[in-house]
Amino acid sequence: MTKHIDVIVPCYNEESSLNRFWKGSGAAFSEIKGYAFRYIFIDDGSTDGTLDKIRQLASLQDAAKTDAPGAPVSPEEFAPQVSYISFSRNFGKEAAMYAGLQASRGDFAVIIDADLQHPPELVEKMIRIVEETGCDSCAARRVSRKGEPKIRSAFARAFYKLMNRYSDIEIVDGAVDFRLMSRQMVKAIVQMPERQRFSKGIFSWVGFDTEWIEFENVQRIAGESKWTLWGLVKYALDGFIDFAEAPLKLVGVLGGLTTVCSAIYFLIEFFKTVIIGRDTPGYASTICLILFFGGLIIAILSLMGEYIGRMYLETKGRPIYIEKESNIDEETKRETD
Ligand code: UDP
Ligand code: MG
Repeated sequence: MTKHIDVIVPCYNEESSLNRFWKGSGAAFSEIKGYAFRYIFIDDGSTDGTLDKIRQLASLQDAAKTDAPGAPVSPEEFAPQVSYISFSRNFGKEAAMYAGLQASRGDFAVIIDADLQHPPELVEKMIRIVEETGCDSCAARRVSRKGEPKIRSAFARAFYKLMNRYSDIEIVDGAVDFRLMSRQMVKAIVQMPERQRFSKGIFSWVGFDTEWIEFENVQRIAGESKWTLWGLVKYALDGFIDFAEAPLKLVGVLGGLTTVCSAIYFLIEFFKTVIIGRDTPGYASTICLILFFGGLIIAILSLMGEYIGRMYLETKGRPIYIEKESNIDEETKRETD
């Protein structure tokens, strides 16, 4: 029986890459026999012609549709179905991936970037690994960071180290969002209700067996990366706070230690005053202490604020994304399986 694979492609201003992605991925996927492919493009509020391109692809496929569900697919008649969802604004790649996974109904789903930085040829290997080993997911990790700004690589390395040491989950260095997942795993991920999503953490948190394959970093085919340094810092902080309670514990320990220190200091001063008598009042040291504790309190409060802010956002229960247009019918969307 033909198995169905949903190819989830988050797109934000990818007008210049989409044609090449379509050709490149089509060439790779048409070689994979026994599987029917369906693209799910997520237009993440692009401001260029991305949505038009996607609509075009969808209508071309509709016109040429020959594949009845379950029919075997041969390279000559590689006719993937094209679904798309377009957001009302840019909600971010995390939201786009979520929308894609939510719309997925296939036996497997694979998330892949539109800029061909995730080689589509690897999908065949992923399928083989999942089918042969019986694992639930096959994910890709970059073994090199060639062509990436040095500061970004250094920052990423530090983030992975910190994350693996202090959070409840393990994140593989170089892991990208390019991965094939079983239906069961997709369902588990879609059920995670959090609004502020950090998929790298969620993939690991839901468990399931994951096999890793490695690939060399590839340059973007066109357009430019949507990440700014500040964006990456925010993303890292999101991941850390979403999955780690260590910072909270750390400030607790810090608070405790400073209290003990100040108590000791107070006792020393008290006995000095009682036994030796008061010498020149320590103006400088008082100011130092005030500043030290003031700073510490503000730091602790702002960290608490981060967590509370997140709780506030979660309790508002806003949707992860808002859809403006889609060719997936409501009926299919409501199906839970
Ligand atoms: N992307 C998205 N929404 C965003 C930013 C990016 O859907 O807000 C998509 C983008 O179109 C691409 C993928 O996510 O398909 C990876 O983005 P990018 O290439 O900018 O990231 P990088 O490869 O530099 O990590
Ligand atoms: Mg990219």
